[in-house]
Amino acid sequence: MIKPESLETVTILGSGPAGLTAAIYAARADLKPLLIHGGQPGGQLTTTTEVENFPGFEKGVMGPELMDACTKQAERFGTRFIQATVTKVDLTKRPFRITLDNGTSFETKTLIAATGASAKYLGIPKEQSLIGKGVSACATCDGFFFRNQDIAVIGGGDTAAEEATFLTKFAKTVYLIHRRDELRASKAMQNRVLNNPKIKMVWDSAVEEILGDGEVVGLKIKNLKTNEFTKLDVTGMFVAIGHKPNSDLFKGSVDMDELGYIITHDGTKTKVPGFYACGDLQDHIYRQAVTAAGTGCMSALDAERFLQSEEG
Ligand code: NDP
Repeated sequence: MIKPESLETVTILGSGPAGLTAAIYAARADLKPLLIHGGQPGGQLTTTTEVENFPGFEKGVMGPELMDACTKQAERFGTRFIQATVTKVDLTKRPFRITLDNGTSFETKTLIAATGASAKYLGIPKEQSLIGKGVSACATCDGFFFRNQDIAVIGGGDTAAEEATFLTKFAKTVYLIHRRDELRASKAMQNRVLNNPKIKMVWDSAVEEILGDGEVVGLKIKNLKTNEFTKLDVTGMFVAIGHKPNSDLFKGSVDMDELGYIITHDGTKTKVPGFYACGDLQDHIYRQAVTAAGTGCMSALDAERFLQSEEG
């Protein structure tokens, strides 16, 4: 098993498009990067289905396949991978100190944070305890279990539209519950949803309560315009209401906006020299695989230039 050196040159946290692109560039610059991936190697793209807008794939590509290819590409140039949870990052002095969940720690001259973002949940009672028992934030992971059943997707953005469309492969009916009377999703995705006979729109509505104890048996829905309640008989609820950045590790060390996104300047630099942030961790506007990959590339170049200037 690969272990970190006591002093690494470039350490990358996260293995989505940003982290893997940073790894490819740093490895090709002969910086022998160490990439630490956490619970979801490959990042959010491994929970999507087909990616149709990544340049170079005329017919689209499956998210997991794309991430697998990027991993092999990073490996080919000498990236070392370890799977661990980072419990602490000390950015107060250089080299930075990284502590892992098995208690080991090591130092690194530069650090590239590409820890991405995670799905948000509604925050209503029983939601967390019913994850895996009817509640999910990943259609690709769990859609299979709802063959011929009636299910609901919550949200009105591209993720909700994509998940609802994907779920029609399995489900009998997909109710798309949105809190307004207009979708936020792109026109192309909207058309797909609105023209799919298996998707039924539930406009101006919010989930008030999840019905069922050991498993989901229905949802109590509130119409936000009329304040009327209705019961929807569904066995699954897929939450697709956006994401929050995985930035807790860096709280107090760098500047963040009110939502927790790391603030970068001049490319991917933070206020700590030698520490760079890329991908969804610092981008709440574009949040695309291709933009994440672009900022990953920038982080590796920023780290390389920093190391060159340090070594004079
Ligand atoms: P968005 O932030 O775009 O959309 C979130 C949706 O959830 C909105 O419709 C919002 O409602 C709703 N929502 C938010 N909070 C709540 C809540 N507490 N209760 C109920 N509803 C809520 O997130 P997405 O994950 O959909 O998309 C993120 C980015 O990724 C976007 O830029 C999108 O274009 C991109 N994307 C692109 C894809 C592709 O090109 N294939 C696929 C998936 C995502 P409201 O509209 O009222 O604010």
